[in-house]
Amino acid sequence: MDRSQGRTGGIVSDGASAAPATFTGNKALQIEEPLIFEMGQPGRCGVDLPEPPKVKDRLNGLRRTGEIGLPGLSEPQVVQHYTRLSQKNYAIDMGVYPLGSCTMKHNPRINEKVARLPGIGDLHPLQPVSTVQGALALIDALAHWLKTLTGMPAVAMSPAAGAHGEMCGMMAIAAALEAKGERAERKIVLAPESAHGTNPATAAALGFIVKPIPANDRGRVDLAALKAALGPEVAAIMLTNPNTCGLFESEIIEISQAVHEAGAYFYCDGANFNAIVGRVRPGDLGVDCMHINLHKTFSTPHGGGGPGAGPVVLSAALAPYAPYPWIVKNGDTWSVAEDGSTVDGTPLGRLKAFHGQMGMFTRALAYIMSHGADGLKQVAEDAVLSANYVMAALKDVMTPAFEGPCMHEALFDDGFLKDTGVSTLDFAKAMIDEGYHPMTMYFPLVVHGAMLVEPTESQAKEDLDLFIGALRSLAERAKSGTAAEDFKAAPRFAPRRRLDETLAARKPVLRWRPSNSFKQAAE
Ligand SMILES: *Cc1c(COP(=O)(O)O)cnc(C)c1O
Repeated sequence: MDRSQGRTGGIVSDGASAAPATFTGNKALQIEEPLIFEMGQPGRCGVDLPEPPKVKDRLNGLRRTGEIGLPGLSEPQVVQHYTRLSQKNYAIDMGVYPLGSCTMKHNPRINEKVARLPGIGDLHPLQPVSTVQGALALIDALAHWLKTLTGMPAVAMSPAAGAHGEMCGMMAIAAALEAKGERAERKIVLAPESAHGTNPATAAALGFIVKPIPANDRGRVDLAALKAALGPEVAAIMLTNPNTCGLFESEIIEISQAVHEAGAYFYCDGANFNAIVGRVRPGDLGVDCMHINLHKTFSTPHGGGGPGAGPVVLSAALAPYAPYPWIVKNGDTWSVAEDGSTVDGTPLGRLKAFHGQMGMFTRALAYIMSHGADGLKQVAEDAVLSANYVMAALKDVMTPAFEGPCMHEALFDDGFLKDTGVSTLDFAKAMIDEGYHPMTMYFPLVVHGAMLVEPTESQAKEDLDLFIGALRSLAERAKSGTAAEDFKAAPRFAPRRRLDETLAARKPVLRWRPSNSFKQAAE
């Protein structure tokens, strides 16, 4: 890159924003950041390494002769680069993060403090079991609370995310059907139309046929349609509760009874457990297994690809199939049961190397213990209160997808944008200019132009009020009928405007090559 030309390479104004282009391409503290490979200079180095000792070449002519191609930068350049990159993310530590279905809640700092204690942070999974007795006790304590909070007798701790937990639970169901000699016959998994995409994907990955169950006009499972779909070919239902419309499945007892009467199992997607933790035990609703996203309900950080942790609680009928490892206690000593010969039942094998995400376990246990029973109950109550506050404050200018109060998420459709020329996408882009990460859009699929807001319990009322104010102002502007062009031009203040998302998805540029100019790589 030739810096003498300025980073925008002579592109002077980006038109619609009417802001003058800068020489650097920076917009105040929004700094244009090239890839580290584009910044490097050959031969520059931030460390002073001694000459390597001469060794006898045993590469038999395969020795590299060309450049290795690492970027050459000084230490301050590297520090600045990564510090600037670290400031490019919108984060829950920066403001309201209303992404529905994701439970973007505050991660209390006590969790971080505990996770970094040397006896925990420095553990290695291959340490002798005698040196990790406390860690095993910690995993068992978390398992105890997960079982207690869900009213379920067993839990598999190792799954690495919600989707992985679904896989674990559905494999346990498949194993139980196999044991009854019904696996071949029971091929169908029922999933409501509003289901998270991972539910049908999990069922299909295990070879089941997925059959959708429609929602009724109240946003809940249509019980009559479900009963009609049940039969000797059905293996299970995968149902989210509270569901992805942010509503409690009010007929859940009838649903679980009907499913069991048909000889099928009830998989509950527990990603939305935050709305009911401490208030409702899924075991009391007839659930056979359910994954818990520790990185949602129990506050461990997520977003940007991980890590996650998705323990699966299991009913007595499915407990024998839980995958190993299991943490077991003999007298005063903890040990890890790592194969079928050391545990009761017929475990379905191993789903993951080692025992699970220790850092996530530690944060989740710290969260549970620092809140206590009363605190966890209040989490659910405040999460539901916040969502209903948002819903009540916006329902006269936006269109709630369903009547009545919601659980932890306020769901709107795009009815209020009808004939305005403004789409759900435009509305979300305009939120970026107001300094907010958009809510979840176009999901659940059963709602047209869906906008799903999950404020969680961790935002102060005045911050919610500002957020509500911003959305009200956007909704009123959109409805004025004269702002469509403005909305189409949003975001104006972001470092990049509208990206070609289709091209990015179809032809992602995942690898930097020296020929890519800076502009191509960034846009
Ligand atoms: C987040 C989520 C999942 C998947 O969880 P991951 O940890 O992202 O794999 C499944 N179902 C619902 C309803 C979710 O919100």
